[in-house]
Amino acid sequence: MKLRIGVLAAVMVLPFAVASTTSSAQARPGSTPYYWQVPGADEDVLTEAGFDVEHGAGGPIQVVGDQGVANRLLGLGYRPVKFDTVYKEVLAPPRTQDVGVQTFYGGYHTVAEHEKHLTDVAAAYPALTQVFDIGDSWRKTRGQGGHDIRAICITKKQAGDCALNPNSAKPRFALIAQLHARELATGELAWKWIDHVTKGYGSDPEVTSVLDTTELWVVPIVNPDGVDIVASGGSRPLLQRKNANNTGASCSTPSYGVDLNRNSSFKWGGAGTSRCGETYQGTGAASEPETKAIEAWFKQLFPDQRGPGDRDVAPVTTKGVMITAHSYGNLIMPPWGWTWDANPNAAGLRALGQKMAAFNSYTVVAEGDTTGTTDDFTYGNLGIASYTFELGSGSGSCGGFFPQYSCMDSLFWPRNKGALLAAAKAAKAPYAS
Ligand SMILES: [Zn+2]
Repeated sequence: MKLRIGVLAAVMVLPFAVASTTSSAQARPGSTPYYWQVPGADEDVLTEAGFDVEHGAGGPIQVVGDQGVANRLLGLGYRPVKFDTVYKEVLAPPRTQDVGVQTFYGGYHTVAEHEKHLTDVAAAYPALTQVFDIGDSWRKTRGQGGHDIRAICITKKQAGDCALNPNSAKPRFALIAQLHARELATGELAWKWIDHVTKGYGSDPEVTSVLDTTELWVVPIVNPDGVDIVASGGSRPLLQRKNANNTGASCSTPSYGVDLNRNSSFKWGGAGTSRCGETYQGTGAASEPETKAIEAWFKQLFPDQRGPGDRDVAPVTTKGVMITAHSYGNLIMPPWGWTWDANPNAAGLRALGQKMAAFNSYTVVAEGDTTGTTDDFTYGNLGIASYTFELGSGSGSCGGFFPQYSCMDSLFWPRNKGALLAAAKAAKAPYAS
């Protein structure tokens, strides 16, 4: 499959390479970006040609970009159709938000607010929580500002709980978000999840039971440098997806950086070699500090429960679930990404995927066609049940990368609350359902 696509890409792209002197087909700052449907286009071909390609949520594939990007598609013989705006109408932040809280685009929290949130939650619920610094962002490693990457452990703490030790007494469910910075709904979903399970302990029987028996770990912002870039646009957030690594690159903002969901060390390599492309894999496996941080953290949370072979099955006694939240497509995607072949635990992963889909009505479908993803690492290396959630549809006021903030309460949280609780309950034996 990959070979066929690779040959096709070479044939289709080479004649136009000369005309493409811009470093990327991303929307330029100051221009108006749209989602374009591109009927009949191949995702891999357009990605390798430097376009910003997204799942079409059932329809044709979509390209993100301004009129100049559409003109490039036309020049390549495609017929892009303007599908929807990237920016929705920005409404006033909800009055329930405190005065003085730093938000952008109608209510989304900045990295500083996420950091304060974890500190505040830890102070309010010391018997339930512990916050960890699990590593540095790229800018911090270079002394250019940046951030610590923070994780929170949430459980009814007993002696030995929330230790960075894979042999934990309680099974663990890990949720990570905003690895892709512009996928705004994902960090907010993590925020609401943290609030729900801390505030609900002792009053909500379901939450109480989960915290009595399970450790919930959350990294709300895996890519804080990227989120800083996104938020710098204010009511017109920048479309930064990757981290802030601009070493040796002449890519325009927001096209520089390494795609942290192509940089994981499990079977790293393959597509994504274009330096300014949205799926740039980096210079080596886990080359980025953000990737190193979460991989080391996952290894501290979960023992290796699967053999080294591609066909080794994680046993039914395996513990642990991981969800990495992305936008968009209304999808629940288990591994593999690196091959279209079914993974050895495909049936079990599908069964739990369907349990979660009963709450959010997303489609469960194997990832395929990507290498270096987080969930290939956590399943492939450690054997834990791993999923990519693609939150939301590709259009409408709650669709795309930048849904209206009110969609958090009207759509994303009510749809996904039950799915996250189902994942937490399954952590003790995800393949036994
Ligand atoms: Zn993503």
